[in-house]
Amino acid sequence: MSIVLENVTVSYQSRPAVHHVDMTFPSACMYAIFGPNGAGKSTMLKAIMGLLPCSTGAVRWQNMQRRDIAYLPQQSDVDRSQPMSVFELTAMGLWYEIGFFGGVNAAQRQRVQAALNRVEMGDFAHRAISELSNGQFQRVLLARMLVQDAKFLLLDEPFNAVDAKTTYALLEVLRQENRNGKGIVAVLHDYEQVRAYFPHTFLIAREKVACGKTEDVLCDELLLKANALAHAAEDDAWCE
Ligand code: ADP
Ligand code: MG
Repeated sequence: MSIVLENVTVSYQSRPAVHHVDMTFPSACMYAIFGPNGAGKSTMLKAIMGLLPCSTGAVRWQNMQRRDIAYLPQQSDVDRSQPMSVFELTAMGLWYEIGFFGGVNAAQRQRVQAALNRVEMGDFAHRAISELSNGQFQRVLLARMLVQDAKFLLLDEPFNAVDAKTTYALLEVLRQENRNGKGIVAVLHDYEQVRAYFPHTFLIAREKVACGKTEDVLCDELLLKANALAHAAEDDAWCE
């Protein structure tokens, strides 16, 4: 099981946001995606999920189907003003098993509650999602991913606007998931978090700058190169 990108280019109105990326995310990997603003990190995750077409190359999910990849977008897809409980939102992770109108059986209820317990939201199951803090809401979104029981978890800046205590609690949950054999691919912008939790890093600045062991990739030379490439792209945005 792996996610393979072969020569992937993704463009918006024929302007490439990410180009000619070759990359394999192996099963049970723990990869950070790192790069300057506008480097194409979110675009790459959307292309992996099939939400954006490739203008060159292709993304392959090897020995996996859509339900095997759980995805947390940078902008949450959840309208927090809708009347929905924490339990109901978390149970949406069962969508691939039960569909929109399926009932939740006792075992599935237990899984939802167990996922909420893991993110320390077990006592909030009946709370309305409109009444949660940012950190609590992010915990619930992670619980929803856990319930899906996917092979890979893709997370796009999951800790934005989340307090440090919650961030580290959720990083611990991700580490545990990884130790249980899940692949984790997360866009992060905090060096310390990446260094402490992610053995591997993919550095992107519209193109692949480097990938490999985090200690090798997050060096001054490669980070400067990524920044230079990002600036060059801004100046020369319409060049093929
Ligand atoms: P990152 O997540 O690394 O900050 P993005 O993938 O969001 O970067 O964006 C990469 C580039 O593509 C940026 O230059 C951005 O302005 C552009 N872009 C992103 N989304 C769109 C869109 N929907 N339409 C046009 N351009 C976009
Ligand atoms: Mg982004």
